[in-house]
Parts: sequence; C-alpha cells; structure tokens
Amino acid sequence: MLGYFFTKQKCDRCSGSFATGWIQSMHDDLALCMGYKEAETRRSDYLEAVEVESAAVRHGVFNFPGIAETKLVKENIASRT
Ligand SMILES: [Zn+2]
Repeated sequence: MLGYFFTKQKCDRCSGSFATGWIQSMHDDLALCMGYKEAETRRSDYLEAVEVESAAVRHGVFNFPGIAETKLVKENIASRT
C-alpha cells in the first residue's frame, strides 16, 4: 500500500503537473514538480537543508520532516521566552 505522499497528483507548491517527474522537498514534506525543485536548490538555505537531512538519515531518522519544521519549532520556543 502506498503512503499518502505517493498518491499526490500535483505539485504542492504550484499545483503544476508531475508529467516530467516529482520529488520531495528538502525543506519539508511537500511533493514538488521538477521546476519547483530546481528553484528550491537556489534557496540560500538549501545546502543547510541537505546537510541536516543527511545527518538525520545517518543517525537512523528516516522520517525527518525537514528544516522548515525544526525552524518553526525553534521560533515557537523563542517566542515563549
Ligand atoms: Zn510546482
């Protein structure tokens, strides 16, 4: 049985087609069309996202939600102090 991620039909960012392929974002758990994925690689924090995700996998965390989630958690903690 396929997970929810594999049942998506359109890009979560732009609603574009997956006709040329699709991939999961490095920043969160969204499914991206290849055009949006290319744009993602130009973000200033893209290498950070890749490095943190790779480190998580090396430590056995195979469902790491991406740095977008961890940044939100940090912002929420900071706003409470
Ligand atoms: Zn897209």
